[in-house]
Amino acid sequence: MALKALIFDVDGTLAETEEAHRQAFNATFAAHGLDWHWNQQDYARLLKVTGGKERMAAHRAAVGHGPDDATIAAMHKEKTAAYGDILARGGLQARPGVLRLIEEARAAGLLLAIATTTSPGNVEALAACLWGKPAGQVFDVIAAGDVVKAKKPAPDIYLFALEHLALPAAQALAFEDTWNGLHSAKGAGLKVVATPSVYSAGEDFAAAHRVLPDLGCFRLVDALALA
Ligand SMILES: [Mg+2]
Repeated sequence: MALKALIFDVDGTLAETEEAHRQAFNATFAAHGLDWHWNQQDYARLLKVTGGKERMAAHRAAVGHGPDDATIAAMHKEKTAAYGDILARGGLQARPGVLRLIEEARAAGLLLAIATTTSPGNVEALAACLWGKPAGQVFDVIAAGDVVKAKKPAPDIYLFALEHLALPAAQALAFEDTWNGLHSAKGAGLKVVATPSVYSAGEDFAAAHRVLPDLGCFRLVDALALA
């Protein structure tokens, strides 16, 4: 069936957002004169802990010293602001091929959607950083945040996006960077192109229709051929 829409995950798929988060954590530690610095390996381990404050507390437990809980809470607020500043100054780039593919799809009259469980605020901050305009001017449908109860790998967020695109799954193609995301999209009946990111490279993408290091060599014509 003819391809009518592309649906993108946000974090790790459009951009390596976790790298900006890591940078924001490290800037906050430095501002507090703390001898903490998270490299990619540290951060990969810490990402298994959900929540920024919890992540800092886990690191404190691992190294045996660090700020108390109240200071961690205050630092986490500063970190969130630092993350916003990084995006506001255009400090995060789209992953290779992403901007071109979205432009090509738009020019060909395809619909564009986002399916993410990150907050709408984070989606807007990233859209401002990557395109310099609101997400609603780039994407026709934005399925983000708590619009559905069950998070990925449940299919709900993709089903929500398809419903608002008013398309069957066979007429759309999804782009994901994680096992959770891949299985969420597959559960909704979508074909999936997986582009593992810095922090999901070790995951199992066997269920994807195509696994690529990034979209640098992937054009709209390739998407049309997959559908
Ligand atoms: Mg992702």
